[in-house]
Amino acid sequence: MGFVIIGGDAAGMSAASRAKRNQHDLDVIVLEQTTDVSYSACGMPYNIADAGREIEDLVVRHAEVFREKQGIDLRTGHRVESIDRKKKTVAGKNLEGENFMIPYDRLLIATGGSPIVPDLPGFDLPGVMALKSLEDGRKIKEHIRARDVKKVVIVGMGYIALEMCESLRARNIDVEMVKPRPIFLPWMAGELASVVREEIESHGVKIYAGHTIERVEAVENNLKVICPDLELQGQMVLVAIGVSPNSELAAKAGLELGPSGSIAVDRTLKTTDENIYSAGDCADAYHVVTGQKTWVPLALRANRAGWAVADNVTGIKTELEGIAGSAVFKVFDLQVARTGLSTAEAEKSGFDPVEVVVKTRSRAHAHPGSTTMHLQIVGDKKSGRLLGMQIVGKEGAVHRIKAPSVALHSKMTVEAFSQCDLAYAPPFSPTWDPMLTAANQLLKKL
Ligand SMILES: Cc1cc2nc3c(=O)[nH]c(=O)nc-3n(C[C@H](O)[C@H](O)[C@H](O)COP(=O)(O)OP(=O)(O)OC[C@H]3O[C@@H](n4cnc5c(N)ncnc54)[C@H](O)[C@@H]3O)c2cc1C
Repeated sequence: MGFVIIGGDAAGMSAASRAKRNQHDLDVIVLEQTTDVSYSACGMPYNIADAGREIEDLVVRHAEVFREKQGIDLRTGHRVESIDRKKKTVAGKNLEGENFMIPYDRLLIATGGSPIVPDLPGFDLPGVMALKSLEDGRKIKEHIRARDVKKVVIVGMGYIALEMCESLRARNIDVEMVKPRPIFLPWMAGELASVVREEIESHGVKIYAGHTIERVEAVENNLKVICPDLELQGQMVLVAIGVSPNSELAAKAGLELGPSGSIAVDRTLKTTDENIYSAGDCADAYHVVTGQKTWVPLALRANRAGWAVADNVTGIKTELEGIAGSAVFKVFDLQVARTGLSTAEAEKSGFDPVEVVVKTRSRAHAHPGSTTMHLQIVGDKKSGRLLGMQIVGKEGAVHRIKAPSVALHSKMTVEAFSQCDLAYAPPFSPTWDPMLTAANQLLKKL
């Protein structure tokens, strides 16, 4: 049987490796349009922060290892342009300009996502860059070196924008951030978002939220981001306003699409075609809190979905429960963590949400090194269910969020969560863990 995979990064290579492990004699062909496979995109902001580090450090496994040690027919420089579902073939062009056509028995579309670039004048100028692929990382590092960049304007304020503002400041590059929407982090509880904003501003970064961007212009050696009421200048403009799923191939082939135009899959990762699966940033998923379809482009679910496809293709029936929307990032000295639904998301999903925001300490009373920890917890008044949590603090936020993530998978009530036996010692938390304090406060309102 022939298993063909389009896309050679997290989801695609996870699927290829596991399929070969499950069934050694399976023919696995991976078609990847670039010459890079299996790298840590998530590590790019930290790599860019260090001029002395090679971007190639981020490659997790080289193409030859997949080919020679794992027996995967990995074809880099192969861009798929169409899928013929009747003939069960994919067709495209390689980097030499040659056309190819390859038959499949089972197909996996693991084409990921692409950075969103506004359709405005000047966003195609040299020096206006986005960070998605390893090649983007290479280009950004080279641009900073060659142009001796001293100032960058970042368009957007998502987690990649925030990680990059820390990365650039580490290289002593001035940063200004701008976006049209007036609220700094709209998904985050206001008090927590203010803490994040203060941290960023305390590192010399200027934040301009609520400015409509009209265009980018090249002015002498600089680029100017122009808004009706503001002009920002730098030697580089980083566009970080989010990604959209690469679902065009699927759409052209008549497959059903889901939220945000991602490829609709069932719990076995099958699309609306019996023989075609999809996994990773291009595909949708079920949310364990709402039970509804959602689209969250993050790494673990891409890897896990790749495994699940491999299992299903090799006869090991696997269904994925879904995702809880858990996400973490670091910005300067702060850890930022979330899982589940924000209050607004809970309302939209038909819950009757109640929230509390608490400010506690990260360590026991009077323990040296204790820092402030901010938490928001959301529960449902109707069912008492825990719906979500957000944590911001200088320590202990990121690993803490994993407890409520598990609770969401188990569909726990706030009361059940408040009874959990969470570990305590003075260097790690107060006797009542901050999450238990938050849950106890919320119980009073439910
Ligand atoms: C800067 C940055 C930081 C991140 N940090 C984190 C983090 O901290 N935590 C986290 O969970 N996630 C993070 N992510 C997201 C994470 O990297 C993605 O969720 C993950 O890479 C998705 O894997 P994927 O295989 O679905 O897609 P991708 O990694 O996008 O891979 C898709 C592959 O398909 C190829 N392809 C596309 N179309 C075609 C075609 N027509 N023919 C052939 N090949 C094609 C592409 O070239 C690409 O190699 C980060 C992403 C970036 C960019």
